Amino acid sequence: MAKPAKTLTAVEARKAVRWFQQQMGIGDWSIKVVYADGGSDDGQLGLASAQPPYKRATVIVWPTEHLAGDDDMLSTVMHECCHVMAEDVGAEVPNGQTYEYTWNRLGDLLAAAYRAGVGA
Ligand SMILES: [Zn+2]
Repeated sequence: MAKPAKTLTAVEARKAVRWFQQQMGIGDWSIKVVYADGGSDDGQLGLASAQPPYKRATVIVWPTEHLAGDDDMLSTVMHECCHVMAEDVGAEVPNGQTYEYTWNRLGDLLAAAYRAGVGA
């Protein structure tokens, strides 16, 4: 049984990012959330771009890709925030796939925790 796509508005995504920042102790970062139009390269759901020296990051979400695959946008937002957290502690591998599985699992868990706690 296919699960229904779980959508999230950009405003809701920004609220979820702020929650993540408070939970994970990266509240001093400035994280911008951008919803991109159309499709992404390689069907990717999201992307995080970070500048650790300035504690600035941009999280890009492709809603179209989520709707195409019934993917959970909140899980993607949490996944991309995990990349930013890894950048904060210097654990991110540039262009690497090392942590993707971990961020997927953690992203799903955080999405469930957020829904339980905040009711998104
Ligand atoms: Zn990733």
